[in-house]
Amino acid sequence: MSDYIGRFAPSPTGPLHAGSLVAAMASYLDAKAHHGQWLVRIEDVDEVRTVTGAAESILLALAACGMQWDGEPVWQSRRTDLYAAAFARLHTHTYACGCTRREIADSRVGIAADGAALYPGTCRNGLARGKIPRTFRLRVPAANELDECICVEDRWVGTVTQHLATEVGDFVLKRADGIWAYQLAVVVDDAAQGVTDVVRGMDLLDSTARQIYLQRLLQLPTPHYLHVPVVVNAIGEKLSKQTGAMALNVSRPLTALHSAAQFLGLALPEAGSIDDFWRQAIAAWRLRLAG
Ligand code: GLU
Repeated sequence: MSDYIGRFAPSPTGPLHAGSLVAAMASYLDAKAHHGQWLVRIEDVDEVRTVTGAAESILLALAACGMQWDGEPVWQSRRTDLYAAAFARLHTHTYACGCTRREIADSRVGIAADGAALYPGTCRNGLARGKIPRTFRLRVPAANELDECICVEDRWVGTVTQHLATEVGDFVLKRADGIWAYQLAVVVDDAAQGVTDVVRGMDLLDSTARQIYLQRLLQLPTPHYLHVPVVVNAIGEKLSKQTGAMALNVSRPLTALHSAAQFLGLALPEAGSIDDFWRQAIAAWRLRLAG
């Protein structure tokens, strides 16, 4: 076994579907191609979006596809103390913000890379008059400060540079409903689980600079990153429960596995069994991406 540790980190908002299978497969193949471990982490920190039974159904679907994880799956909802501790360590970089979404949208200082309105900085130097704290934000570096630009070295797309102040803005670590933000939880967990390689969908490439910045502030190692293309529907939206993705048909795993491998650009012969499929897919992945 090498020192490679990878992970699949689904949000249990619905069952595994053709899109999430691609992310699961890419992370699994990369771990296996490196003779590494493959962990599963259930990202249920956002209780509002969590659907009862979805995590269990995802785990069953992974098992039906022959994707066996190492160790016990980790559940973010049981780890909130760790996020609180990391947040406390960041106290010189965070501030309470009393702005509503509407106020931020109306301020029109700019649009972030993900299409949301950039935070105008209203509460950056103290809660604005008459406001009550809603969220807690992380202050990103201003012009000419250290880490103003973060470079992501991605194994699929190459180098991507993000300028935090103009492309992201001060971002939320603790939401108005008290829930820890994905960006904080993912950084804490990847480090706590010793993850060396993050393999996930391209939709999260935009989050990576924020995660690297948090790793630096918390003095945590930065893993290697590989962002694979995401499956989209007929009108170009990422497949998800919200965009009408159908649950994977676990009674015919080979069909689903073949389509996912094809989407990832692996040309594989028909496999007679799930074991055969993985043998071929791991060999093909190794040739293409594991060097
Ligand atoms: N939980 C996230 C999702 O399902 C993935 C997080 C990650 O891989 O970093 O979109």
